[in-house]
Amino acid sequence: MIEENFYDSFDTKDNLHFDSKVVHGALGCDPITGAVSFPIFQSATFMHRDFDVSTGYTYTRLKNPTREELERTMAILEGGLAGFAFSSGQAANMSVFGILEPGDHVLLSDDIYGGTFRIGEDIFKQLGCVFTYVDMADTQAVQSAIRPSTKMLFVETPTNPMMKVADIRKLSAIAREHNALLVVDNTFLTPYFQKPITLGADIVVHSGTKYLCGHNDVIAGLVVVNNQKLADHFQLQLKSRGNGLAPFDSWLLLRGLKTLCLRMEKHNENAARVARWLREQPKVKKVYYAGFEDHEGYAISKGQSTGFGGMISFEVDTLETAKALLTKVKMILFAESLGGTETLITYPLTQTHESIPADIREKLGINERFLRISIGIEHVDDIIADLDQAMKQAD
Ligand SMILES: *Cc1c(COP(=O)(O)O)cnc(C)c1O
Repeated sequence: MIEENFYDSFDTKDNLHFDSKVVHGALGCDPITGAVSFPIFQSATFMHRDFDVSTGYTYTRLKNPTREELERTMAILEGGLAGFAFSSGQAANMSVFGILEPGDHVLLSDDIYGGTFRIGEDIFKQLGCVFTYVDMADTQAVQSAIRPSTKMLFVETPTNPMMKVADIRKLSAIAREHNALLVVDNTFLTPYFQKPITLGADIVVHSGTKYLCGHNDVIAGLVVVNNQKLADHFQLQLKSRGNGLAPFDSWLLLRGLKTLCLRMEKHNENAARVARWLREQPKVKKVYYAGFEDHEGYAISKGQSTGFGGMISFEVDTLETAKALLTKVKMILFAESLGGTETLITYPLTQTHESIPADIREKLGINERFLRISIGIEHVDDIIADLDQAMKQAD
């Protein structure tokens, strides 16, 4: 079969500044029709040009031009070799774990996203894989948790929800020394603030549902890899698990990406203001925010990222205050998820981290007075005023 992929014959625009790359994507406009908005190829199958000649596209489960534009754009943004777009962050993570074989050992961040924890504990453990949870900010602890069978280090940084910061360069060196893969979940910072592959990671994974899409209207997952062997693995996953992102959702992601830099700047700026305000409130006992200068991981953040993102966690004085914040807010929404234009307040104990065993949760500090907030791009004074009036209702 000769594959004449017409889109392959055009150069991608990868020699621009990051702010321009997000706008112009890989090919950007459609080189065939001139459509400025890359078309949604809403087609399950593709006609063959001749006996033994295809257009390079045969069937959307394997490859679709709109999804491919998104995948190439993500590879450019993360500085990787190839990208893959999945039907959710969970689907992307399932395919990452799909690398594992029975007996393989994996080290994960101890306050990993609940869904990732579930993939390990409820699915891959049954297949004979072994998981250890460790504070990835503590490189010594990581070193001593390594086993001969360690195949992968799976890291979130900053973590969800405790905002612990791991040193990607150091973890990469440890992984390399032990012939293990370093996977970084870059959902919280996006490549605008942090590019793990350029710091030594092998695989970057995202819940595209969050900042990349940015509008709370799509469920998506993205993977970017640094070598062909891994690229072949993820292509097989798409083909075999059939978990690729649909053309329309791929287009929504491409559309969301165009404003990524503007949104991230505003999330970052608003979060810094809200975090400082929260810290001064008598009913707030502790604020977890990577951008505080006295945060344990501040120097590491400065060395590997260019911003702190829009996520803040905090502990309040009583369950009443926590309930008031969740239920009395007027503009802010009590909902799970993060990274969208709207400010969302979440209760990790029952919403995002209920899968995590109680003793681990307890140790981390995820208690009944613990809240997480995803700072949106509204006017910061409105966010603060809303939190203030809600908190006062606990009196
Ligand atoms: C939301 C999230 C996921 C899961 O992504 P979905 O798109 O909801 O499937 C994985 N990791 C992190 C850090 C997340 O925030």
